[in-house]
Formats: sequence, structure tokens, C-alpha cells
Amino acid sequence: NDEAVSTRDMIARRNRLLGPAYRLFYEQPVQLVRGEGVWLYDRENRPYLDAYNNVAAVGHCHPHVVQAIARQAALLNTHTRYLHETVLDYAEKLLATFPAEIGHVMFTCTGSEANDLALRVARTCTGGTGFIATETAYHGVTCALTELSPSLGLPAAKDSHVRLVAAPRSAGDDTGEIFARDVRDALDDMKQNNIRPAGLLVDTIFSSDGVFADPRGFLRPAVEAVRAAGGLFIADEVQPGFGRTGEQMWGFARHGLVPDLVTMGKPMGNGHPVAAMAARPDLLAEFGARSRYFNTFGGNPVSSAAGIAVLEVIEAEGLMENARRTGAYLVERLRQLQARHDLIAEVRGAGLFIGVELRHGGATGTPATAESAAIVNMLRERRVLISAAGPHANVLKIRPPLVFLADHADLLVERLDQALLALHQA
Ligand code: PMP
Repeated sequence: NDEAVSTRDMIARRNRLLGPAYRLFYEQPVQLVRGEGVWLYDRENRPYLDAYNNVAAVGHCHPHVVQAIARQAALLNTHTRYLHETVLDYAEKLLATFPAEIGHVMFTCTGSEANDLALRVARTCTGGTGFIATETAYHGVTCALTELSPSLGLPAAKDSHVRLVAAPRSAGDDTGEIFARDVRDALDDMKQNNIRPAGLLVDTIFSSDGVFADPRGFLRPAVEAVRAAGGLFIADEVQPGFGRTGEQMWGFARHGLVPDLVTMGKPMGNGHPVAAMAARPDLLAEFGARSRYFNTFGGNPVSSAAGIAVLEVIEAEGLMENARRTGAYLVERLRQLQARHDLIAEVRGAGLFIGVELRHGGATGTPATAESAAIVNMLRERRVLISAAGPHANVLKIRPPLVFLADHADLLVERLDQALLALHQA
């Protein structure tokens, strides 16, 4: 049919123009042309329920954000080497969401740039070069960060100063102690190789590792060990930040910790490229004395206006509370589904960040990797968009815009039920 031909043509054109390093989602890639709230529309104007895109956190094309961008774009867009109030208004509003110890924020355009800056600050302030990350982590695109992003599957350099630890697995009383033990082993290994630790960099909801939010506070012993060895705790909030976990603005709060450095991005501008690193002022005092930083687009007035508008919508529409409420409802519905489908080994997460782990034979069974891919594609055919994560790609990753309501959760669960039944029958 026409659509299949045009999809094939577009894929060929993409390959010809963009080259071979890009990847598409789904066996039948989707051509989206429009978005509104939790809905995405293809060229035939068919709606897809978006249960995956955390960037459009306040809903696709939210008018308040679109207008803020348009208004400022029509007035002026420059950079941070001129005085401009908007970036200061934004910094003030953003810093107010952090604990008092976090007193400065520096703006970038991507989460990668924010993490790369955090590595620089950590190196400068500790004098160390060693970093610890988790085994299926993703932290960004720069040369330094690909080493800390083993989910890319690239070989590590032999003389690397990066040490990888297993992500925390299922929630138990000893989750924190096991994680801390692995972190201490990594610190010992650095010591034996004359590498001074600079820091621990973790996504505080372990998104690409397979979504691990519980038990609350499990990160604390590991962070204590890193600090005792002279390293910093860098919280990558690119995934859990901005209210997604439902109770607090930031994922680290779930662990009762205050990080030394915090990085954020994705949902920050609801699709406009806005990212940042927030920090303890004493660290930036040291960094600023020895280094300087200018990011051409970071903190520009249009991006800052977008960022302010996003914070305003989160507050005005009570989206953090909605993430808590709808997230809890969705987890409950998914657990009902678990009772009917043996393939579902565990449902976990926080707020509207949910992982559904698929295994053959329960919690300790073999990962259902192929089945997870099949379910993701079957849902796409049923016009519900999700993806899968974890070392075996067997954790369905559900992470919708924060304007997701109970009706949307019902639709997702109904379609997932259908897909699981169809898979079972096949
Ligand atoms: N950290 C985490 C946890 C991420 O998920 C990502 C993006 N997937 C990044 C950092 C990098 O952000 P960006 O793509 O904006 O550079």
C-alpha cells in the first residue's frame, strides 16, 4: 500500500542523507506529524497514545510553552555574555526546587553537555580522574561520557579510569548494602591502580538499567563510601527529574540525599533543547577560579522562557501530584494484569516512571527478551507507544507525559492485555 511504500522511501532517504549511525523505533517505524497532550498523530491523522516520551513532560505542544517560546523568539535571542533578566528569573525559579545546599545553576543545551560539565567540575575539585557508573547506564554522547555509557555496547579502553558496577536489582532489605559493596570494590580497584576517585555518576531511577526506584534510600551507603574516598556524588536527573517520580521534583530526594552536582535535561524545555548542571557553590567557586565556561546557546532567552513556562505548567496543573496519582493507579492495574499473565515477573517504579519486567518462570526465570520486543511492536500496531530497557531489554519502559490520566492508563493496560494474549496464542 501507499503508506508502506512511502515509509520505505523515507527510510531509504534517511539512510542516504543521515548515514548509518541512527536507529529507528519499531519494526514498522512511525511517521509522526503532530502532537497534543498525550497524543501523537501520523500522516493519516491516526492517534497514538504516547506512553513513552518524557521530553514532552507537560504534554506535546503545550500552548503555554509554545507561546512563551514564540513571544521571546519574536523579541530577542542572544547569549549569556549580555545581561538578560530571563535567565536569572529562570535560575531563581529552578534553584527554588532544590535543597538549600545547591546554590548555583549553569545552563547547557543537552543532558550530555550537563554531564560532561559535571565531570569537568568533579575532576577539577577533587583532583581525581576515576568515575563509577552502572553496567547498563547511559549518560550521553561526548567522548568522555561514552565511557560511562556501557549501554552503547562500545568496548572500554584498557587504561580507562571508569569502573562499572551492577545496577541495584530487585528491591530488598540488602539492596543498598549490595550496591555499596560493589561501589567499595570499585574504589579499592581504583586505589590499586593509583587512580584517584572523582565521583559516582548515577541516574537516580536507573532508567536504562531497567528502572529501580526502591527501596527508598538505597543509594545512601554507596554515596557515603564515595565521599569517604574523596569523590563527589553526581545525580543524573535527566530521566527522573521535574516531578516524574510523583512525590518530589528530583529522584535523589527519594534517597534522602543531597548531591554535590545535579544534571538535568530532557523534560526541561518540553522539547526545546534546555539542560543544566546545578551545584554546591563552593565547588563552582573552585571551578570558576581555575576554569571558565561559555555555552553559545545554553541559557539563551528563548530557552530560558521555555524552561520557566514548563515549571509554571508543572505547578499550575499539579503535574507532580498527577504523576503520583496516575502512576499509583497504573501500577495497580498492571499488577492486576500480572495476576493473569505469567510472563510479567515484576511491576515497579515511582510515579509515572514504570518498569514491567518480563521473564519466563517468575522473578528468577530467564529474561523474555524476544517477547519484550514483540510486545513493544504489537503495542505500536495497536497505536500505543512504549519501549524496553535493561541489560536484557526485557523491561517494558513506561514513561508517558505527566498529563497522563486514568483513562489513558486504562487504554494502555487494555492494549497490553490484548498484546500479551495474542503473544500467548501465537
Ligand atoms: N543522562 C541520561 C540518564 C539520559 O537518559 C540521557 C539521554 N537519553 C542523557 C543523560 C543525555 O541527554 P542528551 O541526549 O540530552 O544529551
